[in-house]
Amino acid sequence: MKQRPSGLKEAWPLAPLTSWQVGGPAQFYIEPQTEAELRAGLEWALSENQPIQILGGGTNVLIHDQGIRGLVIGLRRFAKLEEQVSNSELQLKVLSGTAKSELLKVFLKHKLEPAVFLAGLPGDVGGGIVMNAGVGEAWRPREFVELTRSIRVWDWSSGKILEREFQRQDLHWEYRHCKGWQPGVIVSAELSWPLQPQADVLDRVRKANQVRLTKQPLDLPSCGSVFVNPPGDKAGRLIEAAGLKAFRIGGAQVSPKHANFIVNVGGATAADLEAVIRHVQAQVLKQFGVQLRTEVVFLGPWA
Ligand SMILES: Cc1cc2nc3c(=O)[nH]c(=O)nc-3n(C[C@H](O)[C@H](O)[C@H](O)COP(=O)(O)OP(=O)(O)OC[C@H]3O[C@@H](n4cnc5c(N)ncnc54)[C@H](O)[C@@H]3O)c2cc1C
Repeated sequence: MKQRPSGLKEAWPLAPLTSWQVGGPAQFYIEPQTEAELRAGLEWALSENQPIQILGGGTNVLIHDQGIRGLVIGLRRFAKLEEQVSNSELQLKVLSGTAKSELLKVFLKHKLEPAVFLAGLPGDVGGGIVMNAGVGEAWRPREFVELTRSIRVWDWSSGKILEREFQRQDLHWEYRHCKGWQPGVIVSAELSWPLQPQADVLDRVRKANQVRLTKQPLDLPSCGSVFVNPPGDKAGRLIEAAGLKAFRIGGAQVSPKHANFIVNVGGATAADLEAVIRHVQAQVLKQFGVQLRTEVVFLGPWA
């Protein structure tokens, strides 16, 4: 049996660690800051036969009201960023819990275009890669795949921690999803972008932030867009056309400002949010024959 990792918490509330502010506790919880601490946590969970769940910035997850069994590893403090200039490129090495806002600052300092797509994109680098996070606008870059050179993954599925490295081209990048590295945890990533400064990057970042403020209900807890856009259409347009703007169950409401956002107007439970999600899916299917797929990831004992 391995020693309990230092800082191990029991029955740790997860709701404050998510942007929706809902969900029950983690049976066990750690927040590693270094690779050694991450490894110690994984080894302890393996020796105790505890399931392991990774939580990044918590901005794209719906955690069940009963919480999560086993060990939850929160990566918000697992952050480090090293930059270097080589071959006319800006190259970044980051631990996966590094906030996207930290990346933005570096790209902005060099007046590089990735700062624009990162403006207002919440969460961590790891979550950005897992979700292939991006924007609807036809910007360059518009998705994480364009920045990512390689990732380092620890896979514990055999009972031992095996390290694997994947180059961008080894992975399957899709709209709001990256496959081909699972199972495991993304430990670190190498990112790069050509050093071609653009004088107007700061202006464009400000405009991008302004557009988000105008279009999105950023004053209320949400997970951003709940559904991925179906081919050739917009989930928000379909939800609005189905007459569901402002539809509410308990504390969960389809945002009157942006129909693809479901906001926590106060005291929402994960069950309220799930009920709104299922109602929206059923109505859009009934009225338009379109099956909306969720972008948000369900964590915990969902059926
Ligand atoms: C206001 C708001 C606006 C948003 N706007 C956008 C947008 O414009 N575009 C967009 O794409 N998204 C958007 N999002 C959604 C979300 O911010 C992104 O998907 C983000 O990249 C998720 O990162 P995260 O660190 O919060 O991941 P989390 O929500 O913590 O996790 C997401 C998934 O990734 C897994 N995961 C996280 N880190 C790791 C890791 N290191 N290794 C293995 N698995 C990991 C988790 O287990 C989970 O399955 C928005 C969210 C909010 C709240």
